[in-house]
Amino acid sequence: MKTIQEPAREIPVLDEVDVLVVGGGPAGYCAAVAAARQGSRTALVERYGCLGGLATGGLVLYMDGIFDRTGRRVMGGLCWESMERLQDVGGLAQDSPTRLHVDSEWLQVVADSMCHDAGVHLWFHAWAAAAYMDEGRVAGAIVETKSGRQAILADICIDATGDGDLAANADAAFDMGYQRIGLNLKVGGVSRDAWRAFNDEEPERARELMRALLDQGGVPMRPATTPHSDMGVYWINILGLDERDGTTDHPADDLHAMFEGKLSAIDVHDLSYAQYELRQRIARSLAFYKENIPGFEDVRLLAIAPQLGVRESRRIRGIVELTSSDVRAERAFADTIGLHGLSFAGGGVINVPYRCLVPEAVDGLLTAGRCVSTDHWTMQALRLIPPAMVTGEAAGVAAALCASEGCQPRDLPYEALAAGLAEADVIVTPAEAVS
Ligand SMILES: Cc1cc2nc3c(=O)[nH]c(=O)nc-3n(C[C@H](O)[C@H](O)[C@H](O)COP(=O)(O)OP(=O)(O)OC[C@H]3O[C@@H](n4cnc5c(N)ncnc54)[C@H](O)[C@@H]3O)c2cc1C
Repeated sequence: MKTIQEPAREIPVLDEVDVLVVGGGPAGYCAAVAAARQGSRTALVERYGCLGGLATGGLVLYMDGIFDRTGRRVMGGLCWESMERLQDVGGLAQDSPTRLHVDSEWLQVVADSMCHDAGVHLWFHAWAAAAYMDEGRVAGAIVETKSGRQAILADICIDATGDGDLAANADAAFDMGYQRIGLNLKVGGVSRDAWRAFNDEEPERARELMRALLDQGGVPMRPATTPHSDMGVYWINILGLDERDGTTDHPADDLHAMFEGKLSAIDVHDLSYAQYELRQRIARSLAFYKENIPGFEDVRLLAIAPQLGVRESRRIRGIVELTSSDVRAERAFADTIGLHGLSFAGGGVINVPYRCLVPEAVDGLLTAGRCVSTDHWTMQALRLIPPAMVTGEAAGVAAALCASEGCQPRDLPYEALAAGLAEADVIVTPAEAVS
């Protein structure tokens, strides 16, 4: 590729804090609130204009894994507080007591308020372009904003970008994961009852129509609950494209095989392609549904997610990698920071160790959300929204403690972290689960 030389320049310092969180998704806003509530001066940098990441801008609205398969609530802390706050403002819908869907707009407001009330310095429309390194450790980030290129300095940084942008720029080792890239939407004017009745009463005809849709490169659409479903408003979770010119079919029953893809979420060519291609496919599919599928005769397109549906990209290598054998064995760790109720091992929970948030060799840095250290198999679970909140909250508490104690994340005593998490009502052992 042709290159040019960028001249060196002085960078104004926009902010100086104890803890800097990069990325304001479910992991990032929980990390920032947690750090600020521990008394740290905390800044949060988000490239878009709202918090919530894929759970708002990506229109991914189902909260998977808060409960285990027996119906016990295995998450507390900021994840559960967010749900309660959403409930208070009418921003939460329930298919059943354990199947929660959030409203994308109210979650933005709730996350804003939680950050604001905790005293987080919110820097929207700020894209972290590089890590700032000092004495070999991450000591802040260089951000690109409408005001130009600026720096935010911090004792400890948290990479909550989903894609591990900051860590990778700091030369942290990572593994790349590929899953289908989707693009979600919200529709109105739908009768889910009529759609369900058609599928129940004429399954062969429904299958035929789906085959015809897929032959045209269309995307299957299942209306999922929103707080406004009484008015025919649903969100639609799109499985997404597997590769260039590929299929959006649901090809396998196996959960892991179903999500396999080849597009790279850190390649601007693939991102641009997927963004355009999926929008076109959605438009064609809506026309098909309107024409052919009972319940969709009066469908209206209300929103296509402004944020592309990236499921996995960089997984930053940590001191410990959480693996499928840990998950299958329901292994508990001496440094567990939280639980996740979606266990492929059947019935149990996933224990998440602190060390998978600590990069293998880079100091000044923690990770949270879908860039923490797991194998590809386990990321199918850890990437979900509630566990992202759990790793975010733990990273926030840990970063604040490191900043106040002047220690590196790898040296933080677990007892101090556990005490901070207990104070914040985080559920750390199955014995604390709420029936
Ligand atoms: C199509 C699809 C369907 C899904 N379905 C479900 C589901 O049903 N249930 C469920 O629980 N989960 C689901 N998920 C997974 C879940 O939405 C995400 O994995 C989760 O949101 C991860 O949270 P995060 O905070 O790690 O990352 P993200 O939500 O991706 O947030 C990262 C944030 O960082 C910001 N950012 C990124 N780079 C930079 C940068 N360089 N500088 C500044 N800011 C930056 C982004 O703008 C974003 O706000 C789905 C995902 C997809 C794509």
